[in-house]
Amino acid sequence: MEGLRLVFLGPPGAGKGTQADKLQESFGIVRVSTGDILREAVTQGTTLGEVARLYMDRGELVPDDIIISLVRERIVNLTEFILDGFPRNVSQAEGLDRLLSTLNKELTRVIYFNVTDDEVKRRLLARRVCPQCKRVYNLITDPPKVDEKCDFCGTTLVTRTDDNDETIGNRLKVYHEQTQPLLEYYEKKRILKRIDGDMDPKGVYNALLEVLKDDLYKKER
Ligand code: AMP
Repeated sequence: MEGLRLVFLGPPGAGKGTQADKLQESFGIVRVSTGDILREAVTQGTTLGEVARLYMDRGELVPDDIIISLVRERIVNLTEFILDGFPRNVSQAEGLDRLLSTLNKELTRVIYFNVTDDEVKRRLLARRVCPQCKRVYNLITDPPKVDEKCDFCGTTLVTRTDDNDETIGNRLKVYHEQTQPLLEYYEKKRILKRIDGDMDPKGVYNALLEVLKDDLYKKER
């Protein structure tokens, strides 16, 4: 079966989006981020956005049926993709399995970015995003060249509304209770690879290429 179909798993702020962007840039594997799709809907003020915002502001998960149909729409015509932020619980993972089997596809690999809660909090509180081109910065480890301005489009950076102390605490709780059981789910399927996500982005990317090297080699042949 051709193509790489990946899931990036890990707590908020683990660097899943950053790493998926890099992999997309280098290998053309499309990043599908449920968080980005939902934020876009919120910005556009669609019905989906209005519903999603109620959950996102509290750090809760948006209902599974909404999420699964969003993902179906995005991946139905893709041979290769990186799912970033999906699945988030066992029921979504089962939904994804059913969806892929109707498309006659399989997941190639699930990558788990292991990051401690303290590091997650430190990163999320220092995270800033460009509302225009969506690039992500960290005021401590990866600051913009000009204070609070995007390096690429000059737009003033903003803090995500869910990157505050209280919501971060709830997102971590939801992560441990609902998302972490997926490690066992994918371990049993023998497609899980673990990476130390506490390293800097370059270190994590090298570790990612290392665990994916056989899959990437097959893809290039
Ligand atoms: P993220 O950008 O992945 O951190 O997601 C931000 C927020 O969007 C989460 O806290 C959830 O409220 C919502 N969200 C993103 N992905 C999912 C998903 N797969 N299932 C349910 N809610 C999600």
